[in-house]
Amino acid sequence: MILKSVTETDGLSIAQFMQTCLLDIDHGYYRTQKVFGARGDFVTAPEISQMFGEIVGLWLAQCWIAQERPTPFTLLELGPGRGTLMADIFRATAKVAGFHEAMQIVLVEASEQLRSLQKKSLPSAEVSWIEKISQLPEQPVFFVANEFFDALPVHQFQRQNDKWFERQIISQKGELSIGICPHASDLTQLQRRIADTSDGDIVEINLMAQKMAKALSKHIETFSGSGLIVDYGDWVSLGDTIQAVKDQKQVDIFAAPGKSDLTAHVDFAALVTDIACKHSRLVPQGLFLERLGITQRANTLAAYLKGEALQMHIAAHRRLTHPDQMGSLFKVISLYPTYSPTPAGFDYAA
Ligand code: SAH
Repeated sequence: MILKSVTETDGLSIAQFMQTCLLDIDHGYYRTQKVFGARGDFVTAPEISQMFGEIVGLWLAQCWIAQERPTPFTLLELGPGRGTLMADIFRATAKVAGFHEAMQIVLVEASEQLRSLQKKSLPSAEVSWIEKISQLPEQPVFFVANEFFDALPVHQFQRQNDKWFERQIISQKGELSIGICPHASDLTQLQRRIADTSDGDIVEINLMAQKMAKALSKHIETFSGSGLIVDYGDWVSLGDTIQAVKDQKQVDIFAAPGKSDLTAHVDFAALVTDIACKHSRLVPQGLFLERLGITQRANTLAAYLKGEALQMHIAAHRRLTHPDQMGSLFKVISLYPTYSPTPAGFDYAA
């Protein structure tokens, strides 16, 4: 399918390739494959332990309380996968007075297959789906996006002298490979990367992610609210970070197009450049979860467990927080209005 679209055009940008592999109506990865869980291709934080969703839920509720409990408000999740995170948030916030009465759950999900799984995970809640941020109800929004922005398509450019040339997927004798566009790109975002790169370097630009972050920030600044973005990546990304994963193993990006997951590291600086609201510092996931009390929560849950279940629980806590596991690779940043205090977990001196 990918080969067909490449041969029918003069080559695809890396972003078009990613988008087709992930979301093609008939062949796209998120639309056809069993993506998550122990037997899926990858395991995400909410699938590792309920504690992740509980902490995120309490963070969202705390922001809502700090902003004087606006009613009604939208509880938004971007790319909810199987719906596990939202189900945990829902459960964890049940006892926060007034929160459930005021909330309207809205999800952004491109895959029909995953939408139906989300319906099953959230049976008792009133949930609706929107296609784009501009369709959000005109009211405060409290949102979370876990491993969402890494799934959005990146363009890649290679530096030659002081010009940037886009990398493309080309087909030669029926084989896919990477080529380079003969014309220099005039994308304005590339200019600011001249200062921190050298000749031959590759940079990635995620236009869709930047557009969504801008729309979310504008909504937050106008109607209030706040959001949490959790993903792997760094403050600034450099080089080719695209990776393909199948059956929890890294594979070549051309080995199984449409049948392997494709992601790219999130460039957090680019995500928050020129946004309308404020953003917090970038914090490692492990530190963020610790600050929000994951270890106390883990100890409380541990008191009810023994044997193998206890060992699994301890391993899950370690996996989410330890620097050798997800603790440092994954980062957390929050968006909040310029007129509101810094949210919990980010309000400390460097
Ligand atoms: N947040 C979940 C799933 C992460 S996988 C978890 O932590 O388990 C990425 C999710 O984003 C999937 O649900 C995928 O279908 C969705 N997604 C990917 N690209 C999208 C797009 N362009 N628009 C909307 N949803 C998208």
